[in-house]
Amino acid sequence: MLIRNAELEGGAICDVRIDREGIVAIGQIAACDGEPVFDGDGGLLLPGLHDHHIHVAALAAAQASVKCGPPEVNGPDDFAAALRTAGSGWLRATGYHESVAGLLDANALDRITVDRPVRVQHRSGRMWFFNSPGLDAILANRSAPPGLERVDGGYTGRLFDEDDWLRATLGSAPPAFAAIGTQLARSGVTGLTDMSPGNGPLIARHFAAERASGSLPQHVLLAGGFDLVDTATPDGISLGAAKLHLHEADLPPFDDVIAFIHRAHALGRVVAVHCATEVELIYTLAAFAEAGVAPGDRIEHASVTPDTALADIARLGLIVVTQPHFIFERGDIYRTDVESRDQPFLYRLRAFLDAGITLAAGSDAPFGSADPWMAMAAATSRRTRAGATIGPSEALTPERALDLYLRDPEKLGQRRRVAIGAPADLCLLDRPWASARSALSSDLVRATFIGGRLVFNRIDQPPAQRGGRVYPPA
Ligand SMILES: [Zn+2]
Repeated sequence: MLIRNAELEGGAICDVRIDREGIVAIGQIAACDGEPVFDGDGGLLLPGLHDHHIHVAALAAAQASVKCGPPEVNGPDDFAAALRTAGSGWLRATGYHESVAGLLDANALDRITVDRPVRVQHRSGRMWFFNSPGLDAILANRSAPPGLERVDGGYTGRLFDEDDWLRATLGSAPPAFAAIGTQLARSGVTGLTDMSPGNGPLIARHFAAERASGSLPQHVLLAGGFDLVDTATPDGISLGAAKLHLHEADLPPFDDVIAFIHRAHALGRVVAVHCATEVELIYTLAAFAEAGVAPGDRIEHASVTPDTALADIARLGLIVVTQPHFIFERGDIYRTDVESRDQPFLYRLRAFLDAGITLAAGSDAPFGSADPWMAMAAATSRRTRAGATIGPSEALTPERALDLYLRDPEKLGQRRRVAIGAPADLCLLDRPWASARSALSSDLVRATFIGGRLVFNRIDQPPAQRGGRVYPPA
């Protein structure tokens, strides 16, 4: 296929020939007989975006669930109405935050409904709340796991960090990924790194099946546990980092963290550590200082990074994978919940780059929006949904914000470019960069190519789905 009249980064207008082998020619090119031609109309042609931190199975499950947190649900009445959605069997609700109706337990949920089993996931993804019928259902055939909170001999209905147990108990098969593949393609995303710590051979097989059927067109880099091995990662799926999920309230013994890092490195795998609090970050940096850092080792989130920790990240040569959109999506809650002295250290961006630290970004969906363009816009504005600003000196230029999604997923220190020999994974915008850079939004994406194949073409969509733009008949 020939993509004609596309702008490349730097401003040159070129024709680009692609096939499954990748980009085979760039320049002023005449179409061959019968060759399909796609007119780029002067729009910017980029390497496809890569989401460097996402949880696809959880996102698919969340999309089949009731939303019960901001911005859709904001108070006790909204929350009760959401849980009283008509239906039978399990009601699964996600995105809860205590600003809605306080810290939940079974009693609070029972006052809303005891007609069906209900489970509500906290927005952090680390906590579930059950009503009494829900508790009865999960304990019907299995004994309680350690993470099921018990007070005075009774269960409160709160379950902490027991997703594997819960999955086994509910016997749930991984959900279909097709809707997510389509949604990501519409945003120009051609690859993703799934960072779920529980990823093992079962989920690897599910990803393989969804890719083979075409439901999930994106390339997949699969992080996870040690039971995830190369032989379990079929075509189109690469083996990613060994993921360590720390929890400030229950940190593992220091020696165990060191052993985890050594084991991953011995297997030739990089290490990715979840650091959503300052304590988790400091603990992790101490562990890396002791165990050693391999090229590619990464800090996920780095949600709160004081200057001393930032200097340690730079000195150790660690990579940071951040979520710029949390400032937009959660910033108004941060402004009330996070101590004001810590607010300048939230989801820093510019400071990492100024310190020479490699920085990439991922959505953390379903815990954040899966739209990378919304995250880029937040990276340039640092504005919250209500319009306040957090850490304005951390703002990036649009070019640097875009760069967070153009790093090579397996070698984050390297930037991908549209060049001969590069994969034909491409994102075509509907306008040149000079006008796109001040209008960052997924409405810019006109077409997406993966492996030389057109997987999204906005012109195919009815006008209502084209961001409201209606093209007059030619
Ligand atoms: Zn995550």
